Amino acid sequence: MKIIDLIKSEKISISCELFPPKKGGELNNALEIVHKIAENGVDYMSVTYGAGGTSSGETAAIAGEIEKCGIPALAHLTCINSTEDKIEKVLVDLKSRGVQNIMALRGDKVPGAVEDPAYKHANELVAKIKTCGDFCIGGACYPEGHPEASGLNEDIEHTRLKIEAGCDFLVSQMVFDNTILYNYMYRLMSKGIFVPVVPGIMPVINARQIARICDLSAISLPPHFRAIVEKFADKPEALKQAGIAYAMGQVVDLIANGFRNVHIYTMNKPELIGAIRSNLSELLK
Ligand code: FAD
Repeated sequence: MKIIDLIKSEKISISCELFPPKKGGELNNALEIVHKIAENGVDYMSVTYGAGGTSSGETAAIAGEIEKCGIPALAHLTCINSTEDKIEKVLVDLKSRGVQNIMALRGDKVPGAVEDPAYKHANELVAKIKTCGDFCIGGACYPEGHPEASGLNEDIEHTRLKIEAGCDFLVSQMVFDNTILYNYMYRLMSKGIFVPVVPGIMPVINARQIARICDLSAISLPPHFRAIVEKFADKPEALKQAGIAYAMGQVVDLIANGFRNVHIYTMNKPELIGAIRSNLSELLK
């Protein structure tokens, strides 16, 4: 199934993200996680592509397993450290496993990466994917701006290039303050950009991890949520409960304000998506 058809339907959908094991080990664990999430019910699962393009085989294997469970897979693909030949091979592999949805990304810069990649930005990768089959294509967007851009307006103009190249929908960088997302949507619309945006929500379960992610990705924590994270930083189970409750509050607010699709950054923890789905079961009907 193409994810854009799900997004355009009236259904309220919750998706989640998995990451492949580092350095190819523990693939079986990742496949088990797929099954656990599938049991909890989810509308689609995305699988990340390792930093610097290190996980093409594992990403494809996990995406194929998701499809075998009868759930649409969104396989991430990055171009920063890749060649035209490799991108084509990955797409052939994904297609042979029944994967119809690709998240086209540049990827973060890594030391030792290819100096002159065939595709420098996500919009170029989107254009390439369009020539390789009838894929539904997603792209990333950054409601607080991408850290390398000079500002949000410039970043939105670059996002426009992905859409013009054929990107069907956008998934947002994680946001912890929904008003940032609403302002972003307003800016997109005022610039004539109406592509569907799926908000990315992360249930915070680790204080140090979220501090690192926020620093690297220029994401802000609103003061009231920062206070929650600090209060329970040394009590992992309490932080997990608080993180899930906060994320659920965001999801309820998003649905109340007209969003029908929400993507949960579950960091390979099936219980997070399970908790969110079961606590919101009436909203998801
Ligand atoms: P781009 O769209 O290429 O943008 C990168 C920067 O270049 C931005 O500052 C943008 O403003 C600018 N830019 C864009 N196009 C142009 C252009 N044509 N000319 C000049 N400047 C331009 N990383 C992984 O390694 N694996 C993953 O699986 C992964 N999944 C992600 C999923 C989501 C939802 C998000 C939000 C991010 C993900 N990332 C992943 C991280 C992502 O790869 C990085 O944020 C990366 O730095 C930018 O990727 P992009 O696709 O947005 O790049």
